[in-house]
Amino acid sequence: MPTAWRKNAARAAAGLNPLYAAGTVFLVVYALVFADSYDQRILAIAGIYALLVIGYQLVFGHAGAISLAQAAFFGLGAYVTALLATRLGLPFLVTFPASLAAAAALAALVALPVLRLESHYFALATLAIGQAALAAAVNWESLTGGGGGLGGVPPVSLFGFAITRGVWLLALIWGLVAVGGAVAWLLIRGPRGLAIRAAREAPMAAGAVGIDAGRMRFTLFVLGAAYGGGAGALHAHLLGVVSPEVLRLPVMVSCLAMTIIGGRTRVAGAIIGALLLVHLPEWFRFAERFGPLVYGLALLATIIAAPDGLTGAAARLRQFLWPGAPPPPPEIPPRAGSLSHAPASTELKVSDLSKRFGGVAAVRDVSFTLRGGEILGLIGPNGSGKTTILNLITGIERPDGGRIVLNGEDIAGWNPHRIARRGIGRAFQTPMLVESMTALDNVALANQTALNARAYYPGRRLADARAEAASFLDRLEIGSSAMHRRVAELPHGARRRVEIARALAAHPRILVLDEPAAGLDENEREALRSTLRDLAAQGMALIVIEHDFHFLSGLASRLICLDAGQVIAQGTADAVRRNRLVVAAFFGPTPGEDGAP
Ligand code: ADP
Ligand code: MG
Repeated sequence: MPTAWRKNAARAAAGLNPLYAAGTVFLVVYALVFADSYDQRILAIAGIYALLVIGYQLVFGHAGAISLAQAAFFGLGAYVTALLATRLGLPFLVTFPASLAAAAALAALVALPVLRLESHYFALATLAIGQAALAAAVNWESLTGGGGGLGGVPPVSLFGFAITRGVWLLALIWGLVAVGGAVAWLLIRGPRGLAIRAAREAPMAAGAVGIDAGRMRFTLFVLGAAYGGGAGALHAHLLGVVSPEVLRLPVMVSCLAMTIIGGRTRVAGAIIGALLLVHLPEWFRFAERFGPLVYGLALLATIIAAPDGLTGAAARLRQFLWPGAPPPPPEIPPRAGSLSHAPASTELKVSDLSKRFGGVAAVRDVSFTLRGGEILGLIGPNGSGKTTILNLITGIERPDGGRIVLNGEDIAGWNPHRIARRGIGRAFQTPMLVESMTALDNVALANQTALNARAYYPGRRLADARAEAASFLDRLEIGSSAMHRRVAELPHGARRRVEIARALAAHPRILVLDEPAAGLDENEREALRSTLRDLAAQGMALIVIEHDFHFLSGLASRLICLDAGQVIAQGTADAVRRNRLVVAAFFGPTPGEDGAP
């Protein structure tokens, strides 16, 4: 274990931006040597805001949810601390965790209804939470002291030693910032970091590989609130009073501005943003009347000049000053991803499946059975319901009626991530990938998530997932240079293959592909056919949507032809092709044959 720790520490040090190291040294020297007690107090306040913002980054930056409730959690923490300290005389070792827990509890309570909302409604709902908290603080006078607030909160006292000012205060607050920053950093790195990013940037893709984006948002929201509550507790002890000011909009605006100016995803960004914006009004004290103007200009300038915040700009500056660092990605030795986890005993039984969209019956009473080793072809004109059937099977849409039974378990109406974890892998009609991530990491994430979920390899390392991902990409002819490129830079055909590799990397029982051959040339189509044949030979069950009979004949063991949501023919490719209804659906009714079959 100690060697692993040392290795991790060494890697962390190597990844540290030298600009931050220099900044830290500068700050420590300033705090210990040059800052007078007033300056030290300002630094302490900046530390409190840094904690608040580290928490807010989890919500705003990592979950990608525009919450306006962070100030409410801050205020709640402050009030809880003030009440416990003044009414019950409880010490910091109780008030701090209690404030943290109270904020987390409030967040958990409101998260269930609120986190389901779309982004702008979510913002409004969280704003309402803040306003409700403010109204409670102002009006519930017997508890909160009303507009005047609560005074006489004692300073932090640890082991009988009151920490009121100076270096000890800074050590306490910035020590907590260091701990809080380390916890957040550990949370957002490695495979979990990739999963968080996927859930934020491409929720459909995340669901398809088994990531529970909803639970992830919930956890981040609650944790972020806990940071807010902790910051509030420190604020109450430091200032000695708590008034409704802690719940007013300026606190939320500051928090938002610090996050945007520092950068929304890097821990260093929270610290830089807090330090900068707490000090700005001090530096511009001579122009006090223009305070808000300076603030606004700083915000505007960052949004325009450094959309990823100052830490994003620092990363680019580092790249410019020390080009070559970070080192190029290592050559990953592909490790065979055996498909031994795909049992041949798969059975998917779909019966009377139906789905309406308003007036359109997209799928009507569709039934079929699929077993391991079979390839089922779905054909039919545009709009005949093919994609909708896959959406129902993979949980993206809920059926209005019918059953989808996978090995004896009815999965109809389940969430996509649960279905993915049962072993149904998917490639979409338009590839759904995490664009900002490399092809390798897109695939590695699927591999890691699937194998962890099935607990074959608890505590598996990302390096193992990457090695196996490389072998799947290799199998789909994505070379080692393309693997390390961001998906957004890859051509369309390659993206399709990355998506298939991603589905395979999760070792699915059933693979469903929506028009995988679209846009491929003749050679690529042939290569794809042979890959799919191999998969079926290994016991996997496949559903393949395709427009063109030619691609499916000789590949699919069975075809189902749909028209207007209904099965109009099924059987072998030849039989279906000769079916008159099928001919009519594809080419229009022939004169003299437009009756019943
Ligand atoms: P196909 O994949 O065979 O081209 P789809 O399954 O995409 O067909 O669509 C079947 C029908 O359902 C079409 O009429 C389409 O417009 C409709 N449809 C599909 N998805 C939705 C949706 N999310 N909302 C409304 N209508 C939809
Ligand atoms: Mg379609």
